[in-house]
Order: sequence, then C-alpha cells, then structure tokens
Amino acid sequence: MDGQTKAKAEQYTDIMLEHMPVGVALYDVHDFRLLMANPLYHKFLDNYLGPAWTGGRAIGHPLREWLPAADATSFVSICRTVAETGRRYQAGEYVFQSRECGVTYWNWTLDPIHESEGRVNLLLLIANEVTAQVLARQEAEKAHASLSHANRTVEVERKRLEVIETVARNVRESIDTETVGKAAIDAINFHFNSIDVCIHVADPVQQALRLLHIHDTPYDKQTVTVMEYIPYNSSFMMMAQAHNRRDPIVIEDVASAVASGLIDSKHPLVTPDKHGFICVPLWFKDYFEGTLVATFQNVIHADSPELKTLIGCGTHIAAALAHARLHATIENERARLHAVLDQLPEGIVIVDSSNGCISYANATAADILGTPLTSLVGTPPRRYPSTHVVKDTYNRLILPWNFVVIRTLSGEKISSQETMVIRPDGSNMFTLSSATPIRLENGVITGAAIVFQDITAQKSIEQQKNEFLSIASHELRTPTTAIMGYAEILEMEASQDSSLDPICLHAIASIIEQSEGLTRLIEEMLDISRIEHEQLALLPSVHDLLKTLRHVVESQATTTSKHHLHLILQGLESTDTLMGYYDEARITQVLSNLINNAVKYSPSGGEIEVGLRYAPGAPGDALIWVKDQGIGIPASELPHIFNRFHRAGGRNSSISGLGIGLYLVNELVTSHGGHVRVESTEGAGSTFFVTLPLHANQE
Ligand code: ADP
Repeated sequence: MDGQTKAKAEQYTDIMLEHMPVGVALYDVHDFRLLMANPLYHKFLDNYLGPAWTGGRAIGHPLREWLPAADATSFVSICRTVAETGRRYQAGEYVFQSRECGVTYWNWTLDPIHESEGRVNLLLLIANEVTAQVLARQEAEKAHASLSHANRTVEVERKRLEVIETVARNVRESIDTETVGKAAIDAINFHFNSIDVCIHVADPVQQALRLLHIHDTPYDKQTVTVMEYIPYNSSFMMMAQAHNRRDPIVIEDVASAVASGLIDSKHPLVTPDKHGFICVPLWFKDYFEGTLVATFQNVIHADSPELKTLIGCGTHIAAALAHARLHATIENERARLHAVLDQLPEGIVIVDSSNGCISYANATAADILGTPLTSLVGTPPRRYPSTHVVKDTYNRLILPWNFVVIRTLSGEKISSQETMVIRPDGSNMFTLSSATPIRLENGVITGAAIVFQDITAQKSIEQQKNEFLSIASHELRTPTTAIMGYAEILEMEASQDSSLDPICLHAIASIIEQSEGLTRLIEEMLDISRIEHEQLALLPSVHDLLKTLRHVVESQATTTSKHHLHLILQGLESTDTLMGYYDEARITQVLSNLINNAVKYSPSGGEIEVGLRYAPGAPGDALIWVKDQGIGIPASELPHIFNRFHRAGGRNSSISGLGIGLYLVNELVTSHGGHVRVESTEGAGSTFFVTLPLHANQE
C-alpha cells in the first residue's frame, strides 16, 4: 500500500469509528494507558470524567490518572486479568451514572489483542448502550408484576365467591336447620383452611345461643359442653354479644388478645395453634338467627379475604336458617292441626283440586266411609253409579256424599246438608255434611274441605218418633170422635130434659170443650206427620180473603170474654173483595191459630187487632196481622219461634201448649207461597204478619 492509499484507509477508518453506534477504545497492557477511542467512547467518558480530562485529554494517559480511584481499582483489576489470562471479559448491563444523562446501561467487552508472538499487548474495549432495552424490560417486568398482583386479587375474589356460591347452593337445598348447619360448615371447611367452624342458632325464648353444628375438631368434651349453650349474658364467650350487633366480631390474633387481657386464658379459643377469630352475627331482616364462628391459624385483618367470605356466606346461611325456621313452624302447626283433626268425632276430608284426590282424611272419615285410611288418602272420593238414587224415610231424594265434594270444588259453600254414604259393603249411612272451598289469596280454588257426621242413629230415632206420632194420632182420633159424639148426644138430651142439675150440664159442656181441644191437637199432630211425609195436600180454590178473615174473627170472638177482638181494614172498604186462590180450611186454621195464641198469651185480656191490607210495595199480595197486648216474646227467642216443638217460655211456662201451632202456621203459609214474620216486645205484646199472594185469578 502506497502512502497515499494508506492515508486514505486511515481516513476511512476514522470515519467508520466516528459513526459506529458503539464506543470503542484501545488500551495498552503495561500501564493501561488509553491509546485511542472513538467519539462515542469519548462522549461516554466526558459525562463521567472531571473537566481536566474531557475532550480527549485522557488519551495517552494511564487510567489510574484520569479515572476516579475506586472505579480505577476494579477496572484495572479486570484489565490485568484479561491481559494475563488472554480471555475476554464481558459485562452485562453495567450501570453508568452521569451528570448529564442520568442513569444509563451498557454492555461492554474487553478483548485481548495478541501481538505476533502471541503475547497480549493491547486491550480492546467495546461498549454498547442498552439503556432503552433495559428500561423497556424493566417496564415490562413492572407491568408483569402488577398483572400478577391483579391476577392474585382476582383469584382471591374468585375463590371467595366460589365458597359463598357453594355455601349458598348447599344451604338453599336444605329445609331443616340441622341440614342447613351441616351443609354450610362442610362447604366452608372444604374451601377454607380454618381450624374450626361452628354455627349457633338463636333461642330467643331462653335468650341464648345453641350449638347447631360444629366441624369435627380436636375440641375436648368439656369445651364442646361450654360451646353447646351460650346465654346472651355470658361475659366469658364473646359471641354472646352477637345478638346486639350486625357487624362481625373479629380478633386479629388470639395470642395478643390474651396478652392484653381481652380474652381469658381459659377460653376454649385459646390454643397455641389459633390466631384469627371471626364471629359473624346471622341476621335475616330483623330476626337474629344465630352466629357463624371460625378460627384460623393465620392472623386475621379487617380486609382479610376470610372475613369477607364469611360475611358473604353468613347472608345465605341466615336466609336458609330463617327459611328452615319458618318451615319448622308451619310443620309444627300442621302437625298440631292434624293431631286435633285426627281426634275429632266428625269425619274430615280434604280433596285436592289439582287431581281430585283425597289429600287428608281423619280416622272418623275412614270409619264413616267404610274404607281404610291408607286406601282413602291419595284416591278420589268414591263415585256412585247414577242409577243408585237414594231416598230417605220420607221419600226425599238424598244426595250422595261425593256430590258435596264436586259442588264445593266448583266454588259452592255447603252447610249442614243431609247426604248419604254408600259404603263399599253396600250399607247406607246418613251423614250431615258441611263443606267449603279452599282458596289461595287470589281466589283460585286449590281444594275442598268437607266435614261430615254420621246421623244414621238420629235419623232412625226421628223416624221412630214420627211413626209413633202418626200411629198415636190415628189411634187417638177414633176414641175422641166417639167421646165427642156421645157428649153431643148427652148435650142434646140435656137441652130437652130440664131435670138435669147444673153440675151435670157443666160436665157435659166441659167434655165437649176438652174433646174439641183434643181433636185440634190430634189434627195438628197428624198434620206434622203429613208434612214430614210430604203428604199434606192442599185443596185450593178461589175465595174472598176478607170474607174468610171476617168469619174467623167472628167465630173466635165468641170464645173469649176477656179480650176485645176487632177487625181493621186499611185502604179497603168493608164491601171490597180480595180474591185469592187458597185452601180455605187451612188458611182458617192459620188465622185461628194466630188469634188463639194472641188470646192465650194475653192472660190479662185486652185488645186484639186483626188487620188486612194490600202488602206495602206488593199490591199482588195481601197482608194480614194479628196484634195483641200480651206477654210478648224475648228477642233471643224470635229466631226460633217457628221451629217445631219450640216454646218461648220453655218447659216452665204456666201457659200450656206443645209448640207446634206456629210451626204449622209457617208450613201452611209457605206452602201457599206466602210468608210469616213476627215483631214483639217482651211485656208489651206481639204482632204476627202473614203475607199471602192474591192470585191473578181474582180478575
Ligand atoms: P204453643 O202455643 O202450643 O206453645 P206455638 O207454636 O203456637 O205453640 O207457639 C210457640 C211459642 O211461641 C209459644 O210457646 C209461645 O212462647 C210463643 N208465642 C206464640 N204466640 C205468641 C203470642 N201471641 N205472644 C207471646 N208469645 C207467643
């Protein structure tokens, strides 16, 4: 290479070195003098060296002169090692602090340069700035670290929700308190590394907490006994306070609580392995259900995930305990009700509308229906063939028992309906049934409740009584007619024979009067029997009601001297006619009966008003009234006055009678399409009102 070419090559080398992105420097191995460096290396040094050595002034000087002492020692020792061993030195991410650029990072290498004999005579330093990469990596590491932290938080939260969800799911399916406790504790224990978990339920009556469930723990018997029953006023067991608060009781570290005197050292919690303690009061709305308590090996803080998890679980456990408590209350009520119903002497059956089957029946029902209880429940009420028409002893049609069920399921309320049960063995039983539909709040019918009693015995007695009445009346009629006949013959004889003394005449008159009374009574008894057998036939025809009434009043007036009977016509002339279609003998019987009573129950005599008018508001009806000033009827008796054999004065009444007159009056008027009612004031008198239809026939 000639001199010119060589100079050019050196120039090119300088240009290359000047623009290289790495710092390059050459050191001598004897005293580590800086022989040569490219501009980047100088720039690097200028940031670092004192002003006396900047701008390339270090060139030609050993580094001990220009490099600060401490750095020089370590760098010289590196240079020496490379020079002696001939092996490259490599430094990664060397931190370089400069006045201008702050912290920068460099990778640098120190390579030995061998001379021709193989000895190392030069050291080549190449420094490469990696600040950008290092900073980027540090950023990435930081981002990664915070991501991991976030991941850890999410994982803790996920775990917390998983425990809560498991507890919620497990307890949701439990309907009794015991199962709720076990399900909750198993779920918590499975997910948690707590030492022990227990649930207490509140006993508001005893003002105490009762141990519901405890996870198998190394507790001794004595400790479990202490835990079993904790009165609210216990100062020893801190969870006794839970009923007074909504927020959890937390002891971060049991050991330090003992040291500070907060907890008694004999407290069951105090064991060497326990640190954290949490007691969550279990509230459902405003009802304190109990406590959830857990102890932990680790110390517990206010933001510990264990605390948050237990609070979350507590909400579900409290709801499940409340549900179980209400369920138990309803079950107890049901059991109590069934115990009462089971003992009742009436048969009770509940039929479900969804399937028409009997869902409940008591023993009496099974007895009456002649079917074992086990085959009754779960089956529909027995159907009877439509050909099986049942009639009672009076030939009246009686509904089969299951008709009541059908009518009630369709919404009808039935009270005291005579029904008939045809038992599987073919025997019939008379029953008195009442039934009501069972409805939801929105009115939908969900079933029917039927109560019935066996009245076969009563029916039989009633039948015998009626038969006796009927036979007795018939049998009495013949001799009474004979007595009447003979008495009338005697009366006729006496009227032609003036020799008879007054006592005999009075005796004959008395026989006739008493016989007439007896005949009336027998007729009334026969009428009752006819009514019951539906054999009381009316013989209606067209009559003038005013004429009938006038006739009755006139004939009754002759029977009493103490009373003054008078006929009042309201809105009518005495010449008017009120034509009606009725059985005249029966209406005469009705009016005579009422007037008779007015006389009988006015022992001191007085006015008796018999009135007639068109019924107010119903001109097609006539209104008749019989008003007396007698003893009157107590208000409490008024609703029963028309019942058969009912007497207002009771058996002690000094006025004789059988209590059948008004019953017949009511039956007869009703069978004519009219009705009777009474107004009365005790001690002031009574008024009986009879309304009768005035037939269109009168036109
Ligand atoms: P009896 O007169 O034979 O007792 P009733 O059937 O005629 O039977 O009357 C039933 C009851 O009604 C009587 O026992 C009496 O207590 C009461 N009663 C009926 N009419 C009157 C009246 N006008 N005044 C007071 N009480 C009456």
